[in-house]
Amino acid sequence: MTDALHPNGRCTCGGEGKCVWCKRVLLLEIDDIVSSLKKSVEPLVKIADAYDANALDNEARKHWGKNYENTNNEDPNDITLYSGRGGKELLTLSDCLKARETVKRLEEYYGTLRTRLS
Ligand SMILES: [Zn+2]
Repeated sequence: MTDALHPNGRCTCGGEGKCVWCKRVLLLEIDDIVSSLKKSVEPLVKIADAYDANALDNEARKHWGKNYENTNNEDPNDITLYSGRGGKELLTLSDCLKARETVKRLEEYYGTLRTRLS
């Protein structure tokens, strides 16, 4: 693999992670992990977005009323979106909100990290 930043396309620091090549390889690996993580929690983020868009129903509705004047004050930890057989709680609204917040924090942090490592 040849890298535009490192025309020789190889490590020059003996694998200590200090050269341009090593940093670029590290970024590519982190890119892959961040991308996989974001993709894996995307369904949860979509649910959190649907909650904000008031697109969920019943106890997961964010606002209701003639002019949406009522706000759901239920703790998101107590709003079960999916439960399995035997009543085991598998997914709450809180899980989705946390997943979305984590993705947001990851994107912000990763942007800073990329700038520092580039
Ligand atoms: Zn190196």
